[in-house]
Amino acid sequence: MSDSGPGRHFLQIPGPTNLPERVKRALSRPTIDHRGPDCAKMTLSILERLKEVFQTDGPVIIYPSSGSGAWEAALVNTLSPGDRVLFGSNGQFSSTWQNVAAGVGMTVEELQGDWRCPIDLAALENRLAEDRGREIRALALVHNETSTGVVNDVAGARAALDRTGHDALLMVDVISSLGAIDYKHDEWGVDVTIAGSQKGLMIPPGLGFNAPSQKALEASNSAGQARSYWDWGRILEFNRDGFYPYTPATNLLFALDEALSMLLEEGLADVFARHARLAEATRRAVRGWGLDIYCRDPKAYSNALTAVSMPAGFNADLLRQVILERFDMSLGTGLGQLKGKAFRIGHLGDLNELTLAGTLCGVEMGLAACDVPHLSGGVKEALAFLAKDP
Ligand code: PLP
Repeated sequence: MSDSGPGRHFLQIPGPTNLPERVKRALSRPTIDHRGPDCAKMTLSILERLKEVFQTDGPVIIYPSSGSGAWEAALVNTLSPGDRVLFGSNGQFSSTWQNVAAGVGMTVEELQGDWRCPIDLAALENRLAEDRGREIRALALVHNETSTGVVNDVAGARAALDRTGHDALLMVDVISSLGAIDYKHDEWGVDVTIAGSQKGLMIPPGLGFNAPSQKALEASNSAGQARSYWDWGRILEFNRDGFYPYTPATNLLFALDEALSMLLEEGLADVFARHARLAEATRRAVRGWGLDIYCRDPKAYSNALTAVSMPAGFNADLLRQVILERFDMSLGTGLGQLKGKAFRIGHLGDLNELTLAGTLCGVEMGLAACDVPHLSGGVKEALAFLAKDP
């Protein structure tokens, strides 16, 4: 696996994603004094450019943490113990986030959705309208459900809040969509956006992000939840001069600095268009194999990953194991209720046509090696699509 054999390992899970050479070089720079002028200059530049990627004029907070830490940070900065959080629940990551909320003492309410579809906005609006006592203090959604390849409609959720005049904070997890699928924190009126480093941002795991709105910042002043490490206030105070109230993950900041340059040099619109094109090629391949794309709603197809349902009687993890052993490629496992029933092709981050073509070839060869019933035309369909001008 990976560096030990000839060629390179294909890491085609939906994050962590492959590291661009530029990012690897940045990571290997000597660590610098995090209280010195070079680190401050870099931090101020990173914080400014992160705003462009989150599409916000407000601040973005960086934590040395995984995405789960950033979930917790969003909750504990804005809410009080026992506050009710309504979760749009249509995948494994929304379930896991609910566990985090329950773990820090919030009252969790689940708006149960179909895992194969985006959250039903009419059902959401009804629930908000019913809540006349305004007990729901936050609405939490995962923009791109990494477990299913379904994208939830964040602007639609904002509209549901507005139409019902509901004042709940809107919290959105963009851990697997930032830098891959268009996301507009300000325009969509999101109060806290939660992100992680290891997917569309093309750097290793280890950084979490919160982007708070003005309303969320005000809520943080009166929130009753005890917090220390996660506290936005202290971090924002230090960030003003380019510093942190703790030792930052300096080398991950080097990587972030470089990755932001790469994203902004390519241009966000082109980054999203590239992801859309590679995702469409993947879907054509899946259809060409005669297999099912797990997401049932074409409007909600993810451009970051595609979850593929396995034909009944065939185990997706066995297929993944064979593909790993024979072709040195990692695909995403089925999570939660999809264990063994689906595999996920990650097509986000540092990826181009030929990388995707190799990935799809690996899947097609694996299907053949495992005698999974399928048609042989998937790769051909994808290549025909990719051969056309973008
Ligand atoms: N949310 C989403 C949508 C994710 O895809 C993930 C991880 O894959 C997480 C949250 C959890 O992030 P982490 O594993 O970095 O804690």
